[in-house]
Amino acid sequence: MAVDKGSAREITVFGVVQGVGFRPFVYRTAVRIGLRGWVRNIGEGVRIHLEFTRPETFFSFMESLRTDLPPLACIEKLTDTETAFSSASDFRILKSAESGGFVFISPDISVCSNCLREMMSPNDRRYRYPFINCTDCGPRYTIVQSLPYDRPRTTMASFPMCPLCSREYNDPLDRRYHAQPIACPDCGPEVTLYDAGTGKSIDGGFEQAVEWIKDGKIVAVKGLGGYHLVCSPRNEAAVLRLRQIKNRNSKALALMAADAAVVQTYAHLSPEEREHLESPRRPIVLLKKRLDLPHIAPFLDEYGIMLPYTPLHVLLLEKLDLIVATSSNRKDAPIIKDKGEDLVPLCDAVLDHNRPIHMRADDSVLKVAAGSPLFLRRARGYVPFPQRVPEELTVEGDILAVGAELKDTISVYKNGYVVTSQFLGDLDEYSNLLYFEETIGHLSRLFQVEPRCVVCDSHPDFHSTRFAFNLDIPVFQVQHHHAHLTAVLLEHGIAPGRSVLGVVFDGYGYGADGTAWGGEFLVGDYETFERFAHFEPVALPGGDLAARQPWRMALSYLMRTFEDSIPSLPVMDRIPARMLRGVREMVRSNVNSPLCSSAGRLFDAVSFLSGLAPPEVEYEAEAPLRLQSAATSDRVLSYPFNLAGDKPPYTLSFRATIAEVVNDVLSGIGAGTISAKFHNTLARTIVTTARRAREELGIDTVALGGGVFCNSLLLENTQSRLEAEGFRCLRPVLYSPNDEAISVGQIAHALARIKKTDF
Ligand code: ZN
Ligand code: ZN
Ligand code: FE
Repeated sequence: MAVDKGSAREITVFGVVQGVGFRPFVYRTAVRIGLRGWVRNIGEGVRIHLEFTRPETFFSFMESLRTDLPPLACIEKLTDTETAFSSASDFRILKSAESGGFVFISPDISVCSNCLREMMSPNDRRYRYPFINCTDCGPRYTIVQSLPYDRPRTTMASFPMCPLCSREYNDPLDRRYHAQPIACPDCGPEVTLYDAGTGKSIDGGFEQAVEWIKDGKIVAVKGLGGYHLVCSPRNEAAVLRLRQIKNRNSKALALMAADAAVVQTYAHLSPEEREHLESPRRPIVLLKKRLDLPHIAPFLDEYGIMLPYTPLHVLLLEKLDLIVATSSNRKDAPIIKDKGEDLVPLCDAVLDHNRPIHMRADDSVLKVAAGSPLFLRRARGYVPFPQRVPEELTVEGDILAVGAELKDTISVYKNGYVVTSQFLGDLDEYSNLLYFEETIGHLSRLFQVEPRCVVCDSHPDFHSTRFAFNLDIPVFQVQHHHAHLTAVLLEHGIAPGRSVLGVVFDGYGYGADGTAWGGEFLVGDYETFERFAHFEPVALPGGDLAARQPWRMALSYLMRTFEDSIPSLPVMDRIPARMLRGVREMVRSNVNSPLCSSAGRLFDAVSFLSGLAPPEVEYEAEAPLRLQSAATSDRVLSYPFNLAGDKPPYTLSFRATIAEVVNDVLSGIGAGTISAKFHNTLARTIVTTARRAREELGIDTVALGGGVFCNSLLLENTQSRLEAEGFRCLRPVLYSPNDEAISVGQIAHALARIKKTDF
């Protein structure tokens, strides 16, 4: 470095650095420290040119990059090289270069504390304005239509800025510099209340909506990714009516609380849970009940609660400290984002606004398990976060993965990153299939993806599989449980070629041998796998019906365990004798009773046998959820089981388990104890199988995946036992263990295959 003349460095930053106030941050920092040069957006990131005579100033700038980033910015990668000194006279923000690469978009973020302070100051020009936002907060993913991220390409395009907003927008020292959704009461969107019956707008809209909610009416409220149906949780009649409208008798309804203090009135809140609850991503957090509110989460021991995340929510919750805020949708259909989409029959009134939602997104749902987030649904606030792929797996060209069928997501791969969509729902519902196609279009446009190939499940009849084969590009198919495993490997950045034991427990997936799998121990890496052990297959009487009627699985397990001498159990009296006979006949004669090694179905059976599951469930996982909710804290007692066979694939048989469960039921042991013993048993089967894999194959890493691990009790129990035995335990943290992770795993597998074959 020639000190007399000065030095210059060129820094290129990759990650979420556009549309999040990164350039103004660089500008302010450089000016403060006394550096000269410029900053500009380039295709896939931000480039900074710094000129200085004292190296300390440069180091202090680099330190700021590490420690003072704007809240939404996230640096994935940074390069720093020496460059030519040009005697710059000041520091500037230069115009963006043409975009061509991979630009990251921030997720939607809840209103920040600076904006809240302004919104609550009577002298501020945005006093009580429900669309206040800045570069650190507000809508992003749900309002962007295409890139580059500029106001004309968002749903704010139809709101021309007033002179005051325009001045803030263009001032690099203003905290709204280039905040694309910037707005004020003079130029921005506004709130209107509509009567659902007449369609007429109501005077004094906001205040009237508050009164109606207090009076027990159901009001649809427009949020970021769609409408919520809102009512008072303490008004039983209103809650029951909402349940009737949504055709939902038992599935829990989400709550929104004014603040953590209100939350603590109704639920227990640990410091970690509070951190997630109050994070700017604002997920619904599942929290142990403290006070019972009737009909909100029947048969379960927890509530799903979130805090307000739009300024409109904040204003609403100022008047109502707790509301039911469930997503507005018809049963199993996507969340409604436009008033025209059949919203009116679901409510008495609509608290609407005129900033259009481009991309719908549900609220995310998570639970804290063993100190880390466990996603039950990953959507708003987390999407579209880019995940870096291990260097050894990166390839040229783009890839699309379309996931499975239930709880689907899609993922795209580009330039070393995977971006996964929000939760899309079950594709066997036509409206969700449209949502799926809408989202593929959205992500492809945003990230300019032109896939060289598409990856799908090996199930031939999934809608996603058919969709993949209808695209005119090469198709890779991935076995379902292998994709669960590779998703966990990818999120933990495991190097290719390292074999682990994947414990994949879920409801159902198409097996490599064409039979139904679901209680799987796979030894493998990104590319290949072997089945090391699996649950003993049992009959699924009635096929898909067995997943909805837990008593069928209970009977199937009883027949497998006791053959012709099934003891009489009071719980089976809930089922008409004629139906029991029918199913018994079905299983015996092998009619419409495919064999399946599903772990989910074993939970169904035990939940029904212990008297917790109803004969017919209303939603997926209801039977296991009720079982988990009932469990006592016992971590010692368990049931016997059997790991059989003399070489892989070994078979895990639960006949001895079921026999003992029945014994406990007949001796009057409580369902809570049975549940705890059963959870302990499953955790022990995993440890036993893992020990065998270590003895025979030297494997010391275990990856957990599949929807059954949405069960936090099983997850924590398993993780602590494995770690106590010296295993490294990889569990889903960034994605849900359920089928939302399949598209991630599909990308990971495809990358490994492409690498291997030079495709
Ligand atoms: Zn803000
Ligand atoms: Zn304005
Ligand atoms: Fe699955």
